[in-house]
Amino acid sequence: MNLKKDVCVIGGGVMGLATAYYLLKAGKSVAILEKAEVGGGASSSCDDMILLQSKKPGIALTLAMESLEIYRGLSDELGADIGFYSHGGMIIIEDDIQLRVMEDFVRKQVSCGLDVEIVDRNTLFKKQPHVARYMIASTYSKSDSQVNPLMLMRALLHNGLKMGMDVFRNTPVLEIAQQGDHWKVKGQNDVEIECDNIVIAAGAWSAQVGGLLGLNIPIVPIKGQLAVTEQIAPIGETNCWTAAYIASKHDPSILSDRSDYDKKIGLGFSFTRAGEGNYLIGSTRENAGFDKTTNFKALSRILEQARGYFPIIDNVNIIRTMAGFRPGTKDGSPIIGAVDGFPGLFIAAGHEGDGVALSPITGKTVAEMICGAGEHKRFEELNLRRFSASVVEG
Ligand SMILES: Cc1cc2nc3c(=O)[nH]c(=O)nc-3n(C[C@H](O)[C@H](O)[C@H](O)COP(=O)(O)OP(=O)(O)OC[C@H]3O[C@@H](n4cnc5c(N)ncnc54)[C@H](O)[C@@H]3O)c2cc1C
Repeated sequence: MNLKKDVCVIGGGVMGLATAYYLLKAGKSVAILEKAEVGGGASSSCDDMILLQSKKPGIALTLAMESLEIYRGLSDELGADIGFYSHGGMIIIEDDIQLRVMEDFVRKQVSCGLDVEIVDRNTLFKKQPHVARYMIASTYSKSDSQVNPLMLMRALLHNGLKMGMDVFRNTPVLEIAQQGDHWKVKGQNDVEIECDNIVIAAGAWSAQVGGLLGLNIPIVPIKGQLAVTEQIAPIGETNCWTAAYIASKHDPSILSDRSDYDKKIGLGFSFTRAGEGNYLIGSTRENAGFDKTTNFKALSRILEQARGYFPIIDNVNIIRTMAGFRPGTKDGSPIIGAVDGFPGLFIAAGHEGDGVALSPITGKTVAEMICGAGEHKRFEELNLRRFSASVVEG
Protein backbone atom coordinates (compact mmCIF):
# COMPACT_ATOMS: atom_id res chain seq x y z
CA MET A 1 0.00 0.00 0.00
CA ASN A 2 1.34 3.41 -1.00
CA LEU A 3 -0.09 6.53 0.68
CA LYS A 4 0.68 10.22 0.52
CA LYS A 5 0.41 12.01 3.86
CA ASP A 6 1.62 15.29 5.27
CA VAL A 7 3.18 13.53 8.26
CA CYS A 8 4.26 9.99 9.10
CA VAL A 9 4.50 9.32 12.84
CA ILE A 10 6.72 6.38 13.79
CA GLY A 11 5.48 4.76 17.01
CA GLY A 12 1.95 4.37 18.33
CA GLY A 13 2.54 5.00 22.05
CA VAL A 14 1.16 7.90 24.02
CA MET A 15 3.65 10.29 22.39
CA GLY A 16 2.94 9.26 18.81
CA LEU A 17 -0.82 9.31 19.39
CA ALA A 18 -0.78 12.73 21.07
CA THR A 19 1.41 14.20 18.33
CA ALA A 20 -0.82 12.72 15.63
CA TYR A 21 -3.93 14.10 17.35
CA TYR A 22 -2.63 17.69 17.46
CA LEU A 23 -1.39 17.45 13.85
CA LEU A 24 -4.81 16.26 12.68
CA LYS A 25 -6.48 19.06 14.64
CA ALA A 26 -4.24 21.51 12.78
CA GLY A 27 -5.45 20.09 9.46
CA LYS A 28 -2.54 17.81 8.57
CA SER A 29 -3.04 14.32 7.16
CA VAL A 30 -1.28 11.69 9.26
CA ALA A 31 -0.31 8.02 9.21
CA ILE A 32 1.08 6.16 12.22
CA LEU A 33 3.36 3.18 11.69
CA GLU A 34 3.49 0.97 14.77
CA LYS A 35 5.79 -2.03 14.98
CA ALA A 36 3.48 -4.06 17.23
CA GLU A 37 0.14 -3.12 18.83
CA VAL A 38 -0.90 0.50 19.41
CA GLY A 39 -0.06 1.37 23.02
CA GLY A 40 1.87 -1.86 23.53
CA GLY A 41 5.15 -0.17 24.57
CA ALA A 42 5.97 1.68 27.79
CA SER A 43 2.66 3.55 27.66
CA SER A 44 0.74 0.48 28.83
CA SER A 45 3.29 -0.80 31.37
CA CYS A 46 3.58 2.24 33.57
CA ASP A 47 2.13 4.27 36.39
CA ASP A 48 -0.49 6.87 35.67
CA MET A 49 0.94 9.98 37.27
CA ILE A 50 1.06 13.57 36.19
CA LEU A 51 3.53 14.16 38.98
CA LEU A 52 4.70 17.74 39.29
CA GLN A 53 6.59 17.41 42.57
CA SER A 54 9.36 15.27 41.09
CA LYS A 55 10.23 17.80 38.38
CA LYS A 56 13.33 19.94 38.57
CA PRO A 57 12.56 23.66 38.53
CA GLY A 58 13.14 24.84 34.97
CA ILE A 59 11.75 23.54 31.72
CA ALA A 60 10.86 20.11 33.21
CA LEU A 61 8.54 21.64 35.79
CA THR A 62 7.19 24.31 33.43
CA LEU A 63 6.23 21.74 30.79
CA ALA A 64 4.64 19.46 33.39
CA MET A 65 2.53 22.36 34.70
CA GLU A 66 1.48 23.32 31.16
CA SER A 67 0.65 19.71 30.34
CA LEU A 68 -1.50 19.49 33.47
CA GLU A 69 -3.46 22.55 32.31
CA ILE A 70 -4.10 20.83 28.96
CA TYR A 71 -5.17 17.67 30.79
CA ARG A 72 -7.79 19.56 32.76
CA GLY A 73 -9.76 20.16 29.54
CA LEU A 74 -8.71 17.10 27.54
CA SER A 75 -11.50 14.77 28.57
CA ASP A 76 -14.14 17.24 27.31
CA GLU A 77 -12.13 17.96 24.20
CA LEU A 78 -11.78 14.27 23.33
CA GLY A 79 -15.35 13.51 24.36
CA ALA A 80 -14.20 10.58 26.49
CA ASP A 81 -13.39 9.67 30.06
CA ILE A 82 -9.59 9.46 30.27
CA GLY A 83 -9.45 8.64 33.98
CA PHE A 84 -8.14 12.07 34.99
CA TYR A 85 -8.11 12.83 38.73
CA SER A 86 -6.34 15.35 40.94
CA HIS A 87 -5.99 13.58 44.30
CA GLY A 88 -2.73 15.33 45.13
CA GLY A 89 0.57 13.82 46.14
CA MET A 90 2.88 13.49 49.14
CA ILE A 91 6.57 12.72 49.26
CA ILE A 92 7.15 11.15 52.65
CA ILE A 93 10.35 12.02 54.49
CA GLU A 94 12.23 9.56 56.70
CA ASP A 95 15.04 11.59 58.24
CA ASP A 96 16.66 15.01 58.61
CA ILE A 97 18.98 14.58 55.64
CA GLN A 98 16.03 13.94 53.34
CA LEU A 99 14.13 16.80 54.96
CA ARG A 100 16.91 19.27 54.13
CA VAL A 101 17.03 18.12 50.48
CA MET A 102 13.26 18.34 50.17
CA GLU A 103 13.06 21.77 51.84
CA ASP A 104 15.50 23.13 49.29
CA PHE A 105 13.73 21.37 46.41
CA VAL A 106 10.30 22.59 47.52
CA ARG A 107 11.58 26.20 47.92
CA LYS A 108 12.79 26.17 44.31
CA GLN A 109 9.55 24.64 43.04
CA VAL A 110 7.45 27.23 44.87
CA SER A 111 9.51 30.00 43.25
CA CYS A 112 8.50 28.47 39.88
CA GLY A 113 4.81 28.68 40.77
CA LEU A 114 4.07 25.15 42.03
CA ASP A 115 1.69 24.93 44.99
CA VAL A 116 3.72 22.57 47.16
CA GLU A 117 4.63 22.74 50.84
CA ILE A 118 6.36 20.77 53.59
CA VAL A 119 3.86 19.49 56.17
CA ASP A 120 4.61 18.22 59.69
CA ARG A 121 4.03 14.70 61.10
CA ASN A 122 0.55 15.50 62.36
CA THR A 123 -0.67 16.64 58.97
CA LEU A 124 1.09 13.68 57.35
CA PHE A 125 -0.63 11.18 59.67
CA LYS A 126 -4.00 12.88 59.15
CA LYS A 127 -3.70 12.54 55.37
CA GLN A 128 -1.93 9.15 55.51
CA PRO A 129 -3.25 7.32 58.60
CA HIS A 130 -1.52 4.08 57.56
CA VAL A 131 1.97 5.38 56.86
CA ALA A 132 4.86 4.07 59.04
CA ARG A 133 5.08 6.02 62.31
CA TYR A 134 8.80 6.77 62.01
CA MET A 135 8.23 9.25 59.18
CA ILE A 136 9.16 12.77 60.25
CA ALA A 137 7.41 14.97 57.68
CA SER A 138 6.16 15.08 54.11
CA THR A 139 5.64 17.34 51.15
CA TYR A 140 2.12 17.95 49.92
CA SER A 141 0.82 19.29 46.64
CA LYS A 142 -2.81 19.22 45.66
CA SER A 143 -1.82 19.61 41.98
CA ASP A 144 -0.36 16.14 41.49
CA SER A 145 -2.81 14.35 39.23
CA GLN A 146 -3.21 11.17 37.28
CA VAL A 147 -4.62 9.93 34.00
CA ASN A 148 -5.33 6.39 32.83
CA PRO A 149 -2.84 5.92 29.96
CA LEU A 150 -4.95 3.18 28.35
CA MET A 151 -8.10 5.29 28.35
CA LEU A 152 -6.10 8.29 27.13
CA MET A 153 -4.58 6.36 24.22
CA ARG A 154 -7.96 4.87 23.30
CA ALA A 155 -9.49 8.35 23.20
CA LEU A 156 -6.64 9.81 21.14
CA LEU A 157 -6.81 6.88 18.73
CA HIS A 158 -10.58 7.13 18.39
CA ASN A 159 -10.43 10.89 17.74
CA GLY A 160 -7.55 10.46 15.32
CA LEU A 161 -9.38 7.80 13.31
CA LYS A 162 -12.45 10.08 13.15
CA MET A 163 -10.22 12.80 11.67
CA GLY A 164 -8.96 10.45 8.95
CA MET A 165 -5.74 9.13 10.51
CA ASP A 166 -4.37 5.88 9.06
CA VAL A 167 -2.83 3.47 11.55
CA PHE A 168 -0.68 0.54 10.48
CA ARG A 169 -0.26 -1.97 13.31
CA ASN A 170 2.37 -4.71 13.25
CA THR A 171 4.27 -2.55 10.80
CA PRO A 172 7.82 -1.83 11.91
CA VAL A 173 9.56 0.83 9.88
CA LEU A 174 12.29 -0.80 7.82
CA GLU A 175 13.64 2.02 5.66
CA ILE A 176 13.53 5.80 5.61
CA ALA A 177 14.73 7.68 2.54
CA GLN A 178 14.89 11.36 1.69
CA GLN A 179 13.58 12.03 -1.83
CA GLY A 180 14.06 15.63 -2.91
CA ASP A 181 11.98 17.76 -0.54
CA HIS A 182 9.99 14.88 0.87
CA TRP A 183 10.43 11.52 2.56
CA LYS A 184 9.57 7.91 1.85
CA VAL A 185 8.98 5.65 4.86
CA LYS A 186 8.83 1.93 4.18
CA GLY A 187 7.24 -0.40 6.68
CA GLN A 188 6.75 -4.16 6.78
CA ASN A 189 3.98 -5.65 4.59
CA ASP A 190 4.76 -3.30 1.67
CA VAL A 191 3.46 -0.22 3.43
CA GLU A 192 4.98 2.93 1.90
CA ILE A 193 4.22 6.43 3.09
CA GLU A 194 5.34 9.47 1.11
CA CYS A 195 5.31 12.49 3.37
CA ASP A 196 6.70 15.97 4.00
CA ASN A 197 7.45 15.33 7.65
CA ILE A 198 8.38 12.45 9.90
CA VAL A 199 8.04 12.34 13.68
CA ILE A 200 10.14 9.73 15.47
CA ALA A 201 8.07 8.81 18.53
CA ALA A 202 9.37 5.30 19.03
CA GLY A 203 10.07 5.61 22.75
CA ALA A 204 12.94 3.43 23.96
CA TRP A 205 13.39 2.14 20.38
CA SER A 206 13.99 5.61 18.89
CA ALA A 207 17.75 4.97 18.61
CA GLN A 208 17.01 2.01 16.32
CA VAL A 209 14.77 4.15 14.11
CA GLY A 210 17.44 6.90 14.05
CA GLY A 211 19.92 4.23 12.97
CA LEU A 212 17.95 3.77 9.72
CA LEU A 213 19.03 7.33 8.85
CA GLY A 214 22.57 7.10 10.24
CA LEU A 215 21.40 9.37 13.04
CA ASN A 216 22.51 8.85 16.63
CA ILE A 217 19.50 9.38 18.91
CA PRO A 218 20.93 8.65 22.36
CA ILE A 219 17.93 7.03 24.02
CA VAL A 220 18.24 3.81 26.00
CA PRO A 221 15.65 1.58 27.69
CA ILE A 222 15.40 2.01 31.47
CA LYS A 223 13.38 -0.91 32.73
CA GLY A 224 10.80 -0.37 35.43
CA GLN A 225 8.96 -3.14 37.26
CA LEU A 226 5.61 -2.64 38.99
CA ALA A 227 3.18 -4.67 41.10
CA VAL A 228 -0.59 -4.12 40.94
CA THR A 229 -2.89 -4.87 43.89
CA GLU A 230 -6.48 -5.99 43.92
CA GLN A 231 -9.11 -3.24 44.14
CA ILE A 232 -9.22 -1.86 47.66
CA ALA A 233 -10.59 1.15 49.53
CA PRO A 234 -8.30 4.20 49.63
CA ILE A 235 -5.41 3.76 52.06
CA GLY A 236 -4.73 7.50 52.30
CA GLU A 237 -5.89 10.83 50.93
CA THR A 238 -3.20 11.20 48.25
CA ASN A 239 -0.73 9.18 46.22
CA CYS A 240 2.72 8.79 47.78
CA TRP A 241 6.40 8.62 46.99
CA THR A 242 9.42 8.73 49.23
CA ALA A 243 12.01 11.44 49.33
CA ALA A 244 14.52 8.71 48.50
CA TYR A 245 12.63 8.07 45.23
CA ILE A 246 12.93 11.72 44.23
CA ALA A 247 16.53 11.76 45.43
CA SER A 248 17.30 8.75 43.24
CA LYS A 249 16.44 10.98 40.27
CA HIS A 250 18.08 14.20 41.44
CA ASP A 251 20.77 13.30 44.02
CA PRO A 252 21.94 9.67 43.86
CA SER A 253 24.36 10.18 46.81
CA ILE A 254 21.43 10.17 49.25
CA LEU A 255 21.01 6.44 48.55
CA SER A 256 24.53 5.53 49.67
CA ASP A 257 23.30 3.37 52.58
CA ARG A 258 21.28 1.11 50.24
CA SER A 259 22.29 -2.48 49.52
CA ASP A 260 24.23 -3.15 46.33
CA TYR A 261 21.21 -4.99 44.94
CA ASP A 262 18.80 -2.11 45.62
CA LYS A 263 21.26 0.26 43.97
CA LYS A 264 21.70 -2.07 41.01
CA ILE A 265 17.97 -2.18 40.32
CA GLY A 266 17.52 1.53 41.12
CA LEU A 267 14.87 0.77 43.71
CA GLY A 268 12.49 3.67 44.34
CA PHE A 269 9.03 3.86 45.83
CA SER A 270 5.77 4.98 44.29
CA PHE A 271 2.34 4.13 45.66
CA THR A 272 -0.57 5.31 43.57
CA ARG A 273 -4.24 4.41 43.45
CA ALA A 274 -5.69 3.93 39.97
CA GLY A 275 -9.28 5.00 39.25
CA GLU A 276 -10.74 1.52 39.79
CA GLY A 277 -9.10 1.13 43.22
CA ASN A 278 -6.07 -0.96 42.30
CA TYR A 279 -2.82 0.33 43.77
CA LEU A 280 0.26 0.46 41.54
CA ILE A 281 3.39 -0.20 43.59
CA GLY A 282 6.76 0.57 42.07
CA SER A 283 9.36 0.58 40.96
CA THR A 284 12.83 -0.07 39.60
CA ARG A 285 15.11 1.81 37.21
CA GLU A 286 17.26 -0.86 35.60
CA ASN A 287 19.77 -0.87 32.78
CA ALA A 288 18.76 -4.27 31.45
CA GLY A 289 18.60 -3.70 27.70
CA PHE A 290 15.32 -4.85 26.16
CA ASP A 291 14.74 -7.69 28.66
CA LYS A 292 11.08 -7.22 29.57
CA THR A 293 10.80 -10.04 32.09
CA THR A 294 9.68 -9.28 35.61
CA ASN A 295 11.68 -11.06 38.30
CA PHE A 296 10.81 -12.32 41.74
CA LYS A 297 13.79 -10.81 43.54
CA ALA A 298 13.20 -7.25 42.36
CA LEU A 299 9.43 -7.47 42.93
CA SER A 300 10.04 -8.89 46.42
CA ARG A 301 12.20 -5.87 47.23
CA ILE A 302 9.50 -3.50 45.88
CA LEU A 303 6.89 -5.17 48.08
CA GLU A 304 9.07 -5.50 51.19
CA GLN A 305 9.80 -1.83 50.91
CA ALA A 306 6.11 -0.97 50.44
CA ARG A 307 5.22 -3.03 53.53
CA GLY A 308 7.79 -1.04 55.49
CA TYR A 309 6.23 2.26 54.47
CA PHE A 310 2.59 1.10 54.56
CA PRO A 311 2.34 -2.01 56.82
CA ILE A 312 -1.39 -2.32 56.05
CA ILE A 313 -0.69 -3.66 52.56
CA ASP A 314 0.52 -6.90 54.11
CA ASN A 315 -3.15 -7.96 53.90
CA VAL A 316 -3.60 -7.00 50.25
CA ASN A 317 -3.31 -9.35 47.27
CA ILE A 318 -1.07 -8.66 44.31
CA ILE A 319 -2.91 -9.56 41.13
CA ARG A 320 -0.44 -8.56 38.44
CA THR A 321 3.14 -7.54 37.79
CA MET A 322 4.59 -5.82 34.75
CA ALA A 323 7.70 -4.25 33.30
CA GLY A 324 8.16 -1.47 30.78
CA PHE A 325 10.96 0.48 29.12
CA ARG A 326 11.24 4.14 30.01
CA PRO A 327 12.93 5.91 27.11
CA GLY A 328 15.94 7.44 28.87
CA THR A 329 18.45 10.08 27.81
CA LYS A 330 21.82 10.90 29.41
CA ASP A 331 20.59 14.14 30.95
CA GLY A 332 17.12 12.87 31.89
CA SER A 333 15.34 15.35 29.58
CA PRO A 334 13.32 14.45 26.51
CA ILE A 335 14.40 15.10 22.93
CA ILE A 336 11.84 17.37 21.29
CA GLY A 337 12.15 19.25 18.00
CA ALA A 338 13.54 19.34 14.47
CA VAL A 339 16.72 17.47 13.53
CA ASP A 340 19.55 19.56 12.03
CA GLY A 341 20.51 18.45 8.54
CA PHE A 342 17.32 16.42 8.02
CA PRO A 343 14.66 18.88 6.81
CA GLY A 344 11.20 17.78 7.87
CA LEU A 345 12.40 15.25 10.47
CA PHE A 346 11.29 15.71 14.09
CA ILE A 347 11.79 13.78 17.33
CA ALA A 348 9.29 13.45 20.20
CA ALA A 349 10.92 10.87 22.45
CA GLY A 350 13.11 10.22 25.48
CA HIS A 351 10.63 11.29 28.17
CA GLU A 352 11.88 8.63 30.61
CA GLY A 353 9.46 8.44 33.55
CA ASP A 354 7.37 11.43 32.49
CA GLY A 355 6.01 10.54 29.07
CA VAL A 356 2.40 10.14 30.12
CA ALA A 357 2.49 13.45 31.96
CA LEU A 358 4.21 15.30 29.13
CA SER A 359 2.45 13.80 26.12
CA PRO A 360 -0.12 16.61 25.59
CA ILE A 361 2.41 19.46 25.74
CA THR A 362 4.91 17.52 23.60
CA GLY A 363 2.35 16.53 20.98
CA LYS A 364 0.93 20.04 20.78
CA THR A 365 4.38 21.63 20.52
CA VAL A 366 5.72 19.27 17.85
CA ALA A 367 2.51 19.77 15.83
CA GLU A 368 2.98 23.55 16.07
CA MET A 369 6.63 23.25 15.01
CA ILE A 370 5.63 21.22 11.95
CA CYS A 371 2.86 23.68 11.06
CA GLY A 372 5.23 26.65 11.52
CA ALA A 373 2.93 28.01 14.23
CA GLY A 374 3.98 29.61 17.51
CA GLU A 375 7.41 30.40 18.88
CA HIS A 376 9.43 27.65 20.53
CA LYS A 377 12.79 29.13 21.56
CA ARG A 378 12.54 27.57 25.01
CA PHE A 379 12.60 24.10 23.41
CA GLU A 380 16.12 24.72 22.08
CA GLU A 381 17.53 23.12 25.23
CA LEU A 382 15.62 19.93 24.43
CA ASN A 383 16.84 19.68 20.83
CA LEU A 384 18.88 16.63 19.76
CA ARG A 385 21.82 18.93 18.97
CA ARG A 386 22.61 19.22 22.71
CA PHE A 387 24.24 15.81 22.39
CA SER A 388 27.41 16.21 20.38
CA ALA A 389 28.28 13.98 17.40
CA SER A 390 24.70 13.26 16.44
CA VAL A 391 25.70 11.54 13.18
CA VAL A 392 26.83 7.91 13.51
CA GLU A 393 30.54 7.58 12.67
CA GLY A 394 31.65 5.28 9.83
C1 LIG B 1 7.34 1.36 35.60
C2 LIG B 1 7.07 2.65 34.86
C3 LIG B 1 6.34 3.65 35.49
C4 LIG B 1 6.08 4.85 34.82
N1 LIG B 1 5.32 5.78 35.42
C5 LIG B 1 5.01 6.94 34.77
C6 LIG B 1 4.17 7.90 35.37
O1 LIG B 1 3.64 7.73 36.46
N2 LIG B 1 3.94 9.05 34.69
C7 LIG B 1 4.51 9.30 33.46
O2 LIG B 1 4.28 10.38 32.91
N3 LIG B 1 5.28 8.38 32.87
C8 LIG B 1 5.56 7.22 33.49
N4 LIG B 1 6.36 6.29 32.90
C9 LIG B 1 7.01 6.63 31.63
C10 LIG B 1 6.08 6.48 30.45
O3 LIG B 1 5.52 5.19 30.46
C11 LIG B 1 6.86 6.72 29.16
O4 LIG B 1 7.63 7.90 29.24
C12 LIG B 1 5.91 6.85 27.98
O5 LIG B 1 5.00 5.80 27.98
C13 LIG B 1 6.70 6.87 26.68
O6 LIG B 1 5.77 6.93 25.63
P1 LIG B 1 6.26 6.78 24.14
O7 LIG B 1 5.09 6.89 23.27
O8 LIG B 1 7.43 7.70 23.92
O9 LIG B 1 6.91 5.31 24.12
P2 LIG B 1 6.14 3.83 23.99
O10 LIG B 1 4.88 3.87 24.71
O11 LIG B 1 7.16 2.85 24.34
O12 LIG B 1 5.79 3.83 22.46
C14 LIG B 1 6.77 3.68 21.46
C15 LIG B 1 6.15 2.84 20.36
O13 LIG B 1 7.04 2.82 19.24
C16 LIG B 1 6.90 1.54 18.65
N5 LIG B 1 8.08 1.28 17.80
C17 LIG B 1 9.32 0.98 18.20
N6 LIG B 1 10.12 0.78 17.13
C18 LIG B 1 9.36 0.96 16.02
C19 LIG B 1 9.60 0.86 14.63
N7 LIG B 1 10.80 0.53 14.12
N8 LIG B 1 8.58 1.09 13.77
C20 LIG B 1 7.34 1.40 14.24
N9 LIG B 1 7.06 1.50 15.58
C21 LIG B 1 8.06 1.29 16.45
C22 LIG B 1 6.81 0.60 19.84
O14 LIG B 1 6.24 -0.65 19.47
C23 LIG B 1 5.93 1.39 20.79
O15 LIG B 1 4.56 1.06 20.68
C24 LIG B 1 6.61 5.07 33.52
C25 LIG B 1 7.29 4.04 32.88
C26 LIG B 1 7.53 2.84 33.54
C27 LIG B 1 8.27 1.74 32.81
